Amino acid sequence: MMIVMKSSATEAEVQAVLERIDTVGARAHISRGDEVTVIGAIGDREHVARLGLEDSPGVDRVVPILKPYKLSSEQIRHGERTVIEIDGRRVGGEHFSLIAGPCTVESREQTLETAHAVREAGVSMLRGGAYKPRTSPYAFHGLGEAGLRILAEAKEQTGLPIVTELMDARDLEPVLEVADLIQVGARNMQNYTLLTELGRAGRPVLLKRGLSSTLEELLMAAEYVLKEGNPNVVLCERGIRTFETAYRFTLDLTAIPVLKELTHLPVVVDPSHAAGRRSLVEPLSLAAAAAGADGIIVEVHPRPEEAICDGPQALLVDGFAAYVDKVERAAAVAGKALSVV
Ligand code: PEP
Ligand code: MN
Repeated sequence: MMIVMKSSATEAEVQAVLERIDTVGARAHISRGDEVTVIGAIGDREHVARLGLEDSPGVDRVVPILKPYKLSSEQIRHGERTVIEIDGRRVGGEHFSLIAGPCTVESREQTLETAHAVREAGVSMLRGGAYKPRTSPYAFHGLGEAGLRILAEAKEQTGLPIVTELMDARDLEPVLEVADLIQVGARNMQNYTLLTELGRAGRPVLLKRGLSSTLEELLMAAEYVLKEGNPNVVLCERGIRTFETAYRFTLDLTAIPVLKELTHLPVVVDPSHAAGRRSLVEPLSLAAAAAGADGIIVEVHPRPEEAICDGPQALLVDGFAAYVDKVERAAAVAGKALSVV
């Protein structure tokens, strides 16, 4: 249930509602907007209804949250967008976040070279995987903690916040030491124990859509993080499986405006994994930015022919600044400005 307070409601009235929700064992999630405060009471709907909160002082109305995902639903924020701040950069609302870097941290030289190049081109954050989910168990699975140390050095040298993937909750501690935004890969979107741990950890999460997941399943996955008290979830469309075989995945651009209708959470797009090849990355990026995405996460490599993973889809360092410029202009069409410091 959603309790919408009057704009004149006092703090004491808000607290009184929170206390009453607590008495029936429901969880209260408070969202303080510019205009009104909305309290989501997540628990047994019958029990909350029986409290008769509509008659409490300061309460405007009590309405059911119709979607199965409650905290991520657009309804609970009354149309207000979540804007996540990561080390001075903003994701969501009018802010556009450009996250770039290698697929995989392969070596210190490759990572630092890429980090400096994308920094020069004016990106918001640096991406790079130290733990890599690979289709083959025989493939390279990342440098692990050694990779995290390289990312830490890249951050120290460039000042860019770090986006890196966590695959296993047992690696949470070292990842927390480095990551400013923790990526949950497409293959782990429905790893509910991992999502719950990240909800408790509190660090912002980049949640990638599963290869064959519906938007409702994506939002239900986000709900696992939000439910634990971590409000900072960025959704990521990265291409889905369709019958088409001419390219790697089908980038679901429709997901951008549809997610904007369904949720207040920011939505970024990964054109690299959808495309699977370099020539498609720029047009997909421009389309996503113009369609209102809150950001792009893109793979860049100084020598893609030598890349251990995802070389064919990596943008070259050479020419990357021109790409950033075009994406920035496409984002401006949708009313967003690139967030850098
Ligand atoms: C990645 O970002 O390198 C990655 C493996 O992405 P996804 O989980 O979307 O396949
Ligand atoms: Mn990759």
